[in-house]
Amino acid sequence: MRYISTRGAAPMLSFDEVLLAGLASDGGLYVPESWPQISAAEMRRWRGLSYADLAVRVMAPFLGDAVPLPAFERMVRDAYGTFDHPAIVPMKQLGERLWSMELFHGPTLAFKDLALQLVGRLYDHVLASHNARVTIVGATSGDTGSAAIEACRDRKSIEIFILHPEGRVSPVQRRQMTTVPSKNVHNLAVQGSFDDCQDLVKAMFNDRAFRETYKLGAVNSINWARIMAQIVYYVRAGLELGAPDRALRFAVPTGNFGNVYAGYVARQMGLPIEKFVVASNRNDILTRLFETGTMEIHGVEPSLSPSMDIQVSSNLERLLFDLYGRDGKALAAEMEGFRKGKSMSLSPARHKAALEWFQGFRLSDEGTLAEIGRLHRLTGELIDPHSAIGIAAAAEAAKAGDTPVVALATAHPAKFAEAVKRATGIEPALPPALADLMTRPERLERLPNDLNAIEAHIKQRLAEEVHA
Ligand SMILES: *Cc1c(COP(=O)(O)O)cnc(C)c1O
Repeated sequence: MRYISTRGAAPMLSFDEVLLAGLASDGGLYVPESWPQISAAEMRRWRGLSYADLAVRVMAPFLGDAVPLPAFERMVRDAYGTFDHPAIVPMKQLGERLWSMELFHGPTLAFKDLALQLVGRLYDHVLASHNARVTIVGATSGDTGSAAIEACRDRKSIEIFILHPEGRVSPVQRRQMTTVPSKNVHNLAVQGSFDDCQDLVKAMFNDRAFRETYKLGAVNSINWARIMAQIVYYVRAGLELGAPDRALRFAVPTGNFGNVYAGYVARQMGLPIEKFVVASNRNDILTRLFETGTMEIHGVEPSLSPSMDIQVSSNLERLLFDLYGRDGKALAAEMEGFRKGKSMSLSPARHKAALEWFQGFRLSDEGTLAEIGRLHRLTGELIDPHSAIGIAAAAEAAKAGDTPVVALATAHPAKFAEAVKRATGIEPALPPALADLMTRPERLERLPNDLNAIEAHIKQRLAEEVHA
């Protein structure tokens, strides 16, 4: 399997090269050059497999010969061995044609663990086999930082530095990062905003001498390997509900479009998915795109579902690549126009093609609280604000059409306890493995919003590691 860039001007790469590269050199995103197919007979045989066994079968065609299968099987088993539910992604029936799939049973209680637990292991394996090391640098407003830290902790080839805005992440989110005792994990509390943290990370990557000397790397959501790992649970849900003999729909709470794009790949591989409901909060650039055919940048407004507070969905470019007939040159011109003009329009034919697969949905904060309350009264379940947006979208879709709809539940309610309490009066408890989170010792370094100070700190820490 080889990978091509959505902007058509970067070299074709193998899986291990794509894993380490992240973004393509022409500014595009890597996608497989063709879609592997899962036959109907295979789907029938795969019913009843364990999650790890299914995961190996779904992902194997994407690896080519970059990673030996026995090593990959071990990594998959280890990755999902960290989950606290034997089904890994348990499903619950919430209505006649309505299901939720819980993607939050990993170590940091959000769906990003499903990809990052595997990607951390893949990174370490590929780096070790190239005899290389990497310094992961990232900024977080909450969820991604802890998932990346849990994925990279104690890995021999990786040092990880995560910047968060001091005092502006919730205590649970901060502690999920700062109580990890591993030596290769470094938390930097920056005196600034999340945007300041992101700008600092960008500046470090733009500082070529620094980037090359310290071998900077990223594990952000444009990495193909993250998408690949997320295909698996779509296949799982399909098999549970009768694929290939019965079709289904998905409702996906969406930010960067990574999660829902993985579903799109599952459909390209042959899973009978009728439609994706792309669910947003008030930051609704995608909902507007599907409604009007025009994608237009507005400012970001904070909401009760902060992991979906985005201005632009970076992974959408992978879908656009297919809508543009995989013409990388044409798409590169469109993306350049979008960057400059902050707006782009699909042709009527492309808009129509997108609506064959996708429909938009949006929910305000008020609607989100109402949905958390409604579901609790109806079923006794407590859900987090992100999941609530997906479930509200699925409930609406279930009323029209007769195929089952699966809502992806992306975070554990205890991760967003304040909103859940506001909606239901009940404070959801952390799972047993994290019950003592609030009393564990923390490790973090407070630093000013200053590039030189941050780079100097990272240099010093890396020098200490070498001499330790
Ligand atoms: C990251 C995240 C999302 C958005 O996922 P995308 O892949 O960026 O669309 C939704 N919910 C939660 C809880 C998240 O952490």
